[in-house]
Amino acid sequence: MSLKYRTGLSDIPSYDAKPERIWGIQINANECNMPMPPLVEERVLTRLSRVAFNRYPNEQYADLADQIAKNFGVAPEQVLLGSGSSEIIEKLFYCFGGSPAQKIVFPDPSFSMYHIYAKAAQATEVVVPLEADMTLDIDKFVSAVVDNQASLAVICNPNNPTGTVLSVSDIQYIADNIPKDTAFLVDEAYVEFYGKSAVGLLKDYPNLIIARTFSKAYGLAATRVGYMLASREITDMIGKAYMPYHMNTLSLVTADICYQMRQEFVPHIQIMISERKRMAEQVKQLKGFAVYPSETNFLLVHNNDIDGLIERLEANDIGVRKFGKDSRLKDCVRISMGTREENDTWYAVCKAFSEGRA
Ligand SMILES: *Cc1c(COP(=O)(O)O)cnc(C)c1O
Repeated sequence: MSLKYRTGLSDIPSYDAKPERIWGIQINANECNMPMPPLVEERVLTRLSRVAFNRYPNEQYADLADQIAKNFGVAPEQVLLGSGSSEIIEKLFYCFGGSPAQKIVFPDPSFSMYHIYAKAAQATEVVVPLEADMTLDIDKFVSAVVDNQASLAVICNPNNPTGTVLSVSDIQYIADNIPKDTAFLVDEAYVEFYGKSAVGLLKDYPNLIIARTFSKAYGLAATRVGYMLASREITDMIGKAYMPYHMNTLSLVTADICYQMRQEFVPHIQIMISERKRMAEQVKQLKGFAVYPSETNFLLVHNNDIDGLIERLEANDIGVRKFGKDSRLKDCVRISMGTREENDTWYAVCKAFSEGRA
């Protein structure tokens, strides 16, 4: 059958992290492996029981956007919500794409979806390879943006899947040295684990855009809620690309309550950070293992026999994030921090593997 699909669609790869099975220990998607704090869950469930299912979402969008705006000291018009920050990032690529003449610059390895969104937007992607230690040379990044007169420059900070970071002054250096007519997106999906946000730069850089999500630190991946902060000029334009009522009331009220009660999540975030530190220290000691420094809820782990390691983990019903054979990360796996018990379990498998025990 040869249907008349839009140009380029057949070249877009399918997202490669589709769950092929549900794992006993699911540490492949950087989810939070702890349930919602009980106090928050109770409030959420009560609120959900009062939802008017027959009505389109109206004030629920404004309520959440207002609350976020207040927290950051920006105008409510500077906040756009999305079905996950995925929807926001996809819309940004769409709005700054549209033809091969539009260049979108981002580092590699970084969030794998950037490649797909660039293709889907019919833009040209320009990748800036990370250095051998998986850090970004910011001068190389700036040059790529300047030389290509990019429409959009993207940094994921902390970076998925490497866990590595730029400082806020590095971000400012990039903002200072790229053209004023290049939009600059900082994807802060993991910023709660790092604590250093570029949000403070928004007032000085009208081309800056910050994307955030409720999926990782707040453990709300199921609800699909994210947001972006930017100047009104940008949010007005990007807002045009959204369908009316693209956010549903169930997700909006859930995120609204979680955001009101965000103090309740602080202990969870601290546990994930301390588990990351604990596991990095331990894995580092294992023969044949190396760990990249991470400021997230996951670790990028290197091993020369990666296929053997993955096979062993999977045989123990542990699912981790793998990378393709032609990826620069072909000898790595990304391991999300689970509960303490889950972490002890995958670590024991790694330890036995490193000691050549079955
Ligand atoms: C998880 C993730 C997102 C998007 O998450 P949503 O669930 O769509 O909000 C965006 N960027 C990066 C780098 C991520 O890891």
